[in-house]
Amino acid sequence: REQEQLRMERLVCVNQLAAGIAHEIRNPLTAIKGFIQLMARRNDRPPRAEHLDIIVDEIGRIDSLISEFQMLARPPKEPLFEKVNICKLLQDVTLLMEGQLHSKNAAVTVILPVLGCTTVGDICQLKQVFINLLKNAVEAVPYEGQVIVAISRQQGMVAITIEDNGNGIPREIVEKLGTPFFTTKECGTGLGLSVCYSIVQNHGGRIIVDSQVGKGTVFTVLLPVTGDESVLLTVDEQCRFGV
Ligand code: ADP
Ligand code: MG
Repeated sequence: REQEQLRMERLVCVNQLAAGIAHEIRNPLTAIKGFIQLMARRNDRPPRAEHLDIIVDEIGRIDSLISEFQMLARPPKEPLFEKVNICKLLQDVTLLMEGQLHSKNAAVTVILPVLGCTTVGDICQLKQVFINLLKNAVEAVPYEGQVIVAISRQQGMVAITIEDNGNGIPREIVEKLGTPFFTTKECGTGLGLSVCYSIVQNHGGRIIVDSQVGKGTVFTVLLPVTGDESVLLTVDEQCRFGV
């Protein structure tokens, strides 16, 4: 009986996802089709640059939808367990995000821990978590906004907080976070946080959201500490990982 119920629940889940995907992909496809038809009709002129731009953008949207969905739909494969230095990982991620940060002239401060912070997990998956969270933070802040990333210890775990001074999240929306396809953005996919929750859960961690409308948001990722948990980082090491 229990198994049957589980199977039913899973089916409902798959139905919701399939409906979401179909809807999300159909929108950009409709736009692409429309513009191509328009061009075909006006074959006396070269295609207009704006129309080509829209087509490329819409194809890009489908592309990112598919990659995010792949992350989510991938069978919950066991994370590739290896030792991960969280400081180093966040340094890599902030470098990767530099382009986006520049476009908003946003300032990112990384506050490093005093104790070494290593966890065991899948580097690629964990990178994806912080890329998604940083992306949301940058998208939320105003021009010249502030994002503070801090690594510390909380409740015996490695805590990575990503704090932004963006628009904040209303209480009734906080409850919906992590639902696949839930987005308040015009061009959002609503998959970023679902991916984060599923990866962090697979790593034995959890995500906590603290937000105030008009003030900003703090996402805290808690991950199990492993290995050199009592190793003090030297000042040199702290600098090396600084951004
Ligand atoms: P997307 O970014 O494509 O909308 P996500 O799953 O990454 O999808 O986020 C879902 C929603 O959560 C966003 O549309 C936004 O409303 C809200 N959100 C997430 N992070 C933040 C943040 N740092 N500040 C404000 N709102 C956020
Ligand atoms: Mg996002």
